[in-house]
Amino acid sequence: MHLLLYLIFFALLDKSGKLLAATFILLSQHQNQYALIGSSMQDVNLTYSEIEEELSVARRRVVELESKRASFSDAEINFLGAQCHIINSISWKNGIFNVPAFGILVVTKHRVITDVNSGLLEMLGYDKNDLIGNSVEMLHVNSDSFLKFGERYWSATAKQRIVSTEWPLKRKCGEVVWVKISGSALDAMDIGRGVVWVLFDVTDQKKAEIALGESEDSFRSFFESINDIAWVVSNDGKIVQVNHSVQEILGFSLQDILNMNVIDIHPENVRHEAVTIFADMLKGKRETCPLSLLKKDGSALPAETRIWKGRWKGQDCIFGISRDLTLEQEALQRFERLFNSNPAPMALSIMPSMKLIDVNNAFVEITRYQRDEVIGKTSDELNLFTSHDKYCDLLKILSKDGQIKNSEAQIYDKDGNVHEGIFYGEIIESQGQKFYLSVMVDITERKQIETSLQKLKNKYKNLIENSPIGIFESTPNGKYLAANPSLARIYGYDSAEDLINRVSSIESDIYVNESERTQTTDQLKNCCLYGLEQRRKRKDGTIAWVSLFMRSVRDKFGNINSYEGFVSDITDRKRAENELKESEEKFRLIVETSNQGIVAVNQYFEITYSNKIIQKLAGYSEKELHELHIDSIFLSCGEESFSRTIINATERSIPKLECRIRNKDGECFWVLFSSSPISRLDNSSGGAFIMITDISEQKNLELNLLMLATKDGLTGVSNRHHFMEISGALLSSATRYNTEFSVAIFDIDNFKMVNDTWGHSAGDMVLKKICTLATAEFRSSDIIGRLGGEEFAISMPETSLENAAAAVERFRTIVESTIFEYDEIPINITISSGVAACSKHTKAIDCLLKSADNFLYKAKRHGRNQTVTSINAKQETDYPDRWPLNSLKRRSS
Ligand code: GH3
Ligand code: MG
Ligand code: MG
Repeated sequence: MHLLLYLIFFALLDKSGKLLAATFILLSQHQNQYALIGSSMQDVNLTYSEIEEELSVARRRVVELESKRASFSDAEINFLGAQCHIINSISWKNGIFNVPAFGILVVTKHRVITDVNSGLLEMLGYDKNDLIGNSVEMLHVNSDSFLKFGERYWSATAKQRIVSTEWPLKRKCGEVVWVKISGSALDAMDIGRGVVWVLFDVTDQKKAEIALGESEDSFRSFFESINDIAWVVSNDGKIVQVNHSVQEILGFSLQDILNMNVIDIHPENVRHEAVTIFADMLKGKRETCPLSLLKKDGSALPAETRIWKGRWKGQDCIFGISRDLTLEQEALQRFERLFNSNPAPMALSIMPSMKLIDVNNAFVEITRYQRDEVIGKTSDELNLFTSHDKYCDLLKILSKDGQIKNSEAQIYDKDGNVHEGIFYGEIIESQGQKFYLSVMVDITERKQIETSLQKLKNKYKNLIENSPIGIFESTPNGKYLAANPSLARIYGYDSAEDLINRVSSIESDIYVNESERTQTTDQLKNCCLYGLEQRRKRKDGTIAWVSLFMRSVRDKFGNINSYEGFVSDITDRKRAENELKESEEKFRLIVETSNQGIVAVNQYFEITYSNKIIQKLAGYSEKELHELHIDSIFLSCGEESFSRTIINATERSIPKLECRIRNKDGECFWVLFSSSPISRLDNSSGGAFIMITDISEQKNLELNLLMLATKDGLTGVSNRHHFMEISGALLSSATRYNTEFSVAIFDIDNFKMVNDTWGHSAGDMVLKKICTLATAEFRSSDIIGRLGGEEFAISMPETSLENAAAAVERFRTIVESTIFEYDEIPINITISSGVAACSKHTKAIDCLLKSADNFLYKAKRHGRNQTVTSINAKQETDYPDRWPLNSLKRRSS
């Protein structure tokens, strides 16, 4: 009976050669029938010794079977022995050999290859025939490698140890293949049977390792090349690696710093905080540490450390990079100084909330807000911008462009005053935080100036546009560059544009005398021209006179760029001047040929002009008359001076008056004068013209006539008619103004006897003499009149009855004591008088005279040579009526 036993063994090993899983199946074959004798399927980490154990179990079963060999035939027993060997063989061959994932190489103790699997052939690129029977040396990169491998691993394998290493082998094509190789004796019990090597291709892994090594080198050089301090810190805080910068920046050497605790690299005062921050970093709560670092000299270095977790030499660690913030801090200080001392208002807001975190002094000054009032608020919350929309616009610009440039906006200060500003804004980033820095250039004043400048511009523009004076700017070769409406009007053009467009040559189109322009511009080379009077052509060909002010405008090299000037239209003045000239000529002729005397005086009545007639009349030369005061030639008219009379006559438009001139010899004569004022444009007095006609002859005649009409021919006192007229007027005035007024009548006593005794001419002499006495005795304001024959009356204004009576009585005594001589004959004369005063009831002069006459009658009755008034009159009842005057007339005739 033939019994075949099959032990099929599968094993899975990891790269390091450790058995991960193993199984075996024990089958018996008898008469072509297979039976499963035993199996083991386990997922275990088996070591070789454990496999051994499994195998020994299998073997024990074989031994068990062998123990039953008594029932087997010898042949069967031999076969069984042979097959036992085969079990192993088959199990390897069938189970493991054909796994392509690894190469299997079976060598004898003499290193001769006896078997390979397909995995190995593929791995090394050989055919099976190339290898079997050859020394394994052919697979090594060189004999040296072959020998070294043998030295290191053969003996160990021989001692039944499983060895495992990575070793380079050579492919058929010469390429090097790195293999992970594990070997063990083929038969644990008999090393002589050879060694089985299991090979894994680890070339890719090896390449990766090399690359990693290279990359690590790169990392190391990068680590060394960064200028910031790079740290590697173990999880327990020990500094395990630093780059060269630590020495340059902090001054510590590598020996100083390695193994120091990362906390101790901070200044003492922040170490406590450093502990907390480091813990937070480990927990991944924060990525940066803002604390300063300690320098070897003990000072603090402002720094910012950024960290991340990683691995270093197989250990978890923390990498850190510390940046020296000295420059940043200096920059920050500079920024702060710039910020605070900037004259422009600045505000720093935190983004994205836009809440203000700082404002500078200028901001406080302009907005009048205190810092505390604005910090933590947005501009919008403060209603800083006059327009919310504008604020939103600015934010839009900021988010779109990342900055704000040249944006005009208005803000309110705390008191509600509006400030105009131009805004600039930038986003700045510091330690991972974004800030918005805005600057306002206060242009309130500039705006105000601009506004007033604009107003001023408009004002000047209006001035130029509305100026009655023509204003122009012209090129040196005679084209208008600019002109105002007045210039166009002066030259008769429709508008300034019309003038500028139509005048192609000022010289020929505007100047009447073309050469004048060249003369004018020649003069402008040296100076300005003032008040130049020239003629100009108007558009319609008529001539205008202008007064010109003109100057040249030069560039910085002194070359004349243009001319500018002012033009006044003086056509009317020129016409007036011509007319005046003509009129003056006419006047001169009139004056010179006139038969009237003509004098002109200034406002001070000094003679400024005299013609020949007046010179002859006054007996002065023209030169002598000149500047003589008018009052020194013309006598006063009544109580007022002649000059005053002129003023009054002019004021009251009195056409002609009479007055007297005293000539150089002191003689006076009458003239008729009329005056007309010389008026000036400003209505002030320019003096007067006085026209004089000599009326001395006519005046003498007139005076004579007057004498005849009013005076008594014999005595020279007023005649009765004149006396009555004047006395009537005096009475009216006295009763109106309630002043005193008295009249007296006196009559020469026994006058008939004078006539009868010494003749009529003696009587006339007495009459004349008595009137001379009366004229001398009574006041000049008293009026003496001859009522008829030897009867006279005296009107005494402003004289009471007592005073009048006293005066008459005094006159009576004078007459009484005067010797009237006629042909050496002394004649005594007396007079009788009656005196009466008016009362408010006195209606007419007749009545008053009648009353006086009554008292005269009493005087006669009572013996003559006396003065009777109502005061001294004796009571009498039957006086015959001697009044009215017609009876008197009758008596005297
Ligand atoms: P009694 O004192 O009463 O007035 O007396 P008497 O002589 O003065 O008055 P009588 O009326 O009687 O005389 C006036 C005389 O005066 C009469 C007249 O001839 C004279 N007489 C009148 N007029 C003139 C005159 O003009 N010349 C002169 N020589 N005598 C004149
Ligand atoms: Mg008489
Ligand atoms: Mg008489």
